Amino acid sequence: MSAFGKNGEVTLLPKEFSKLSKEQLKTIGPLFNKTKIELEQAINNKREAIRAKSYKKLDLEKLDLEPAEIKNRQGHLHPITQFENQTAEIFKGLGFQQFDAPHIDSDYYNFESLNIPKDHPARDLWDTLYIEDRASAHIDAKEKNYHPGELLLRTHTSNSQVRIMEKYKPPIRMMIIDRCFRYENLDARHEHTFDQFELVYIDKTLSMANLQYLSEYFLKAIFGKDMKARLRPKYYPFTEPSAGIDGLCIFCKGKGCKVCGGMGWLELAGAGMIHPQVLKNGGIDPNIYSGIAWGVGPGRMSMIKFGIEDVRLFNSGDLKFLERF
Ligand SMILES: [Zn+2]
Repeated sequence: MSAFGKNGEVTLLPKEFSKLSKEQLKTIGPLFNKTKIELEQAINNKREAIRAKSYKKLDLEKLDLEPAEIKNRQGHLHPITQFENQTAEIFKGLGFQQFDAPHIDSDYYNFESLNIPKDHPARDLWDTLYIEDRASAHIDAKEKNYHPGELLLRTHTSNSQVRIMEKYKPPIRMMIIDRCFRYENLDARHEHTFDQFELVYIDKTLSMANLQYLSEYFLKAIFGKDMKARLRPKYYPFTEPSAGIDGLCIFCKGKGCKVCGGMGWLELAGAGMIHPQVLKNGGIDPNIYSGIAWGVGPGRMSMIKFGIEDVRLFNSGDLKFLERF
């Protein structure tokens, strides 16, 4: 409780004076008034002294009110974007154009049209995020090529393949660079959101020889002219034959090291001749035309190129990591 102020002990004290006799009041009244004035005076003096002292202190400290220099921070493109731009430039030079397909797509474009029917065991290769709410999907039911069915977040850029065939007549040279989504257990090599780069190349006389040439052309452009590519048999439901594309290990130049597991080669891309059924689904006659589908993961390629050990760093927003590029 304070001494002064509205409910202060000193302020309220006179209320008790009614209990005093007239004689007592004659002595106590003036004494009270005198003491009160002296106390107030003392408090005021102390207050002034403190104020003067702090002004003096402020005077001594030189106040630097000049605006601090703001450090100019130069931003730059994300390493994956840098890689994708470089890749797009390489294939633009070979006459490929960019194509966009929806992130939220129907089961038809993501699986069925690619020769992966419902309940086909190959579906296990793609852990898929399905969408229950149709209203959230940006697919127009009046669209000419609308196919009803379950909606999902596309698991690969291959959902563009039949869309491209429906839209353009061959010869076709298209490329897609975009995000894909999987229901993954995350670790240093798996992300739920990642980018893919894919080519769809359809013409009359295409063969595996063109595929080999394209692969080596691309790998040389990214890793330098000493790079070599080799094809290895692989299985994809939408290509026949299918190939895994290996590049000469950039760390040991083919001698064999820890990164390539002593093989001298690293798996860098996947590709194949577009399956005749997929061409048919896109309205293209497989007896006249053949096609190449070819794809790389910009994340995996960047990890190898820049020696990054954890794929999760790319989407982490960690500036210390991003400033390295
Ligand atoms: Zn190696």
